[in-house]
Amino acid sequence: MKSESDCTLTIAIDGPAASGKSVVGREVARRLGIRFLDTGSMYRAITWAAIQRGVNANCASKLSSLACSSGIRLVTQSDEDRLLLDGTDITDRLRLPEVDSIVSTVSAVSGVRRALVAQQRVIAADGPIVMCGRDIGTVVLPEADAKVFLTASAEVRAERRAAEMQGRHNFGQVLDELRRRDRVDSERDDSPLSPAEDATTICSDDMTVEEVVLEILSKVRQC
Ligand code: C5P
Repeated sequence: MKSESDCTLTIAIDGPAASGKSVVGREVARRLGIRFLDTGSMYRAITWAAIQRGVNANCASKLSSLACSSGIRLVTQSDEDRLLLDGTDITDRLRLPEVDSIVSTVSAVSGVRRALVAQQRVIAADGPIVMCGRDIGTVVLPEADAKVFLTASAEVRAERRAAEMQGRHNFGQVLDELRRRDRVDSERDDSPLSPAEDATTICSDDMTVEEVVLEILSKVRQC
């Protein structure tokens, strides 16, 4: 097994929206004492920047320039991950409904992906990390030591997301939104959401967070 002090330990967790990647990934990273990066927050940051600057979600060239020129910095403050865009903390904007509604369109732009994947690889080169997203095992870190595709039925994911939103959106709306985002993410030409050939698929429908975490840790121990 590679230990957390091994400078090459990389763990890729991919999966559809609200499959629990970030909760599970953060906990795996905490127990191993290594870093965690939720790459979805970077796509959300560029989407927020586009909304702020009035850049149309269908304008690939402007979105690509925006992704190339935006400075994204991820910092941990009092155990919380914060995202700074050109120095401004925009963490609380990343999950707004207006970001949710166009983030998959923005993320389908190849120029945006190139800019963010390059930054993600630089971050990964800095040492052991758990990284989660849609294309980590297939594109960003194809040589990752452990690859997991974490999934759950759309209904279970929507139930969990609706509970997190504490009644602000009803189950049906959340389910429709997740399905729409999964479809766009799976059908795009560049880096579509799909499990890497050598990924272990875990369906968390009937599993607790703890059970998923333990299963991933046992896979890591076999590395
Ligand atoms: O993971 P999260 O739901 O926050 O991701 C938001 C969106 O960012 C996804 O729906 C997807 O369009 C995009 N994304 C991506 N590639 C990643 C991570 C996220 O395309 N590695």
